[in-house]
Amino acid sequence: MSLASRAALVGAALLASIAAVASEAAAEAPGGLSGERIRAHIEFLADDTLAGRQPGTPGYDIAANYVASQFRQLGLAPAGGGDSYLQAVPLREAFQIPGSARLSHHREGATREFVFVEEFFTGASRAFEDSGVRAPLVFVGYGISAPALDHDDYAGIDVEGRIVVAFAGQPASFPSEEGAHFSSRTQKQRAAEAAGAVGAIQIYTPRAAQRFAWDRLESVVGAPAMGWLDAQGEVHGESEQIRGGALLHHEAADVLFEGAPLALAELIALDEAAEPLPVFALAGEAEFAQRSTHENITSPNVAALLPGADPLLGDEVVVYTAHLDHIGVLPGEGHEDAINNGALDNAAGIAVMLETARRFTEDEPPRRSVLFLAVTAEEKGLVGSEYFAHNPTVPREDLVAVVNLDMPMLLYDFADVIAFGASHSSLGEVVEVAAAAEDTALTPDPWPEQNIFVRSDHYRFVEQGIPSIFLVTGVNTRGGETVGEGMSIAMKFREDHYHRPSDEPTLPIDYAAATRFVRINHGIGERIANTAARPTWHEGDFFGETFSP
Ligand SMILES: [Zn+2]
Repeated sequence: MSLASRAALVGAALLASIAAVASEAAAEAPGGLSGERIRAHIEFLADDTLAGRQPGTPGYDIAANYVASQFRQLGLAPAGGGDSYLQAVPLREAFQIPGSARLSHHREGATREFVFVEEFFTGASRAFEDSGVRAPLVFVGYGISAPALDHDDYAGIDVEGRIVVAFAGQPASFPSEEGAHFSSRTQKQRAAEAAGAVGAIQIYTPRAAQRFAWDRLESVVGAPAMGWLDAQGEVHGESEQIRGGALLHHEAADVLFEGAPLALAELIALDEAAEPLPVFALAGEAEFAQRSTHENITSPNVAALLPGADPLLGDEVVVYTAHLDHIGVLPGEGHEDAINNGALDNAAGIAVMLETARRFTEDEPPRRSVLFLAVTAEEKGLVGSEYFAHNPTVPREDLVAVVNLDMPMLLYDFADVIAFGASHSSLGEVVEVAAAAEDTALTPDPWPEQNIFVRSDHYRFVEQGIPSIFLVTGVNTRGGETVGEGMSIAMKFREDHYHRPSDEPTLPIDYAAATRFVRINHGIGERIANTAARPTWHEGDFFGETFSP
């Protein structure tokens, strides 16, 4: 025996003993080796070196390469197009020129200039580098046109060439998820455009304040807006007719209603009392102006496929989605920590998706195929997922269901899960069974007023008629002292850490609970992939009827 091979043997023995020690340590860690893997993904993706994973930055590209590398290590097939895991998404990035955003009101020779951020807010324009408009005003209630719910704020009033003024949100009488659809920015803009309006002012009401705090707007000043570019090089869904839009705080908006049939305070009272809002022309005019700079960039979605084994069902595809991007670095100077690491939002969702993929590769191949999709620019308005939904790398008619992961609260030993969208399709039953198998309950949406169903990536697939759910941890903890302890922890996270630099890997993540969340998530996809019947919308369901007629 040569010296070299002797040394190799000793080395091998040493390595084996190190490996044994290492796996013992991992086994003792909360959640075992699986928990350690989740932790490793989160610590890598939410590290300061990735600088908050803003699309178009090196930090985001490193994150995308990391996910692609994980996919290859798991033996999954590239599904980004060609032989790549990456699907390049063409984006327009728009930056508002500081100081250029203006909103004013004119009536009978008097002018009122509103103060940017303090009283009104408007983001960068993706459609125009220089936009502005001055036109008469019309109050249009909520600005919603929803024939399916027997509601049309535009029936019987002419807004052609005018700027519409509407309350944020939706009538209290609307079912929450349908209402969420109609009160989304896209739907309201479409309604205003179809009616011939040239601008839109949304009033931030006390009811809107329950959904988001005005003082959070300050943190988005200077952040870029993004949209994806179609084959003609135009930003998808952007209107050329609407030349100005703004959110106006109700405390500054009285002046718009002077001399109107109802004062603003009376309208707010109707909104609070769940009474219908009237529509009427207003006396003055509003004027918008702002300038933006545009740059066209690309940022990748990352996609991988586990081919299905069934000769008949194998072409059909179950999709897992999770957004890989976050909001980058805080604009401005003087921050103690400026990096929004996005540990829970959404390094955690990516980590859960990667470990779910691993479980699939450890079992027999499922009957249907499974696509794992990490998307870009979710934080800019579900942009990367919308691009994929419009430009899928597998035939769209083969997509049978979407399970989305966004900001799972892995901070407590959850007793239940919530699946937004569960009440609309046969997927609700699947979640219930998969959760029960892990001794976990399914709780109905506890925050209907937050419109969460339309606020994450699965919604871009709902718009293509595909039944979808969005899975998060629930309202109760196991063995918790109080009912709703999980909800309190989630609310506290929203207040203290959501979209802030403190959403970091140092948060007290419960890796044992995280592994159970992975098992439930895997159990859902496994059942969808192996059940002969394809998931269906419930008979007469609003989303099924609207998008999958
Ligand atoms: Zn976010």
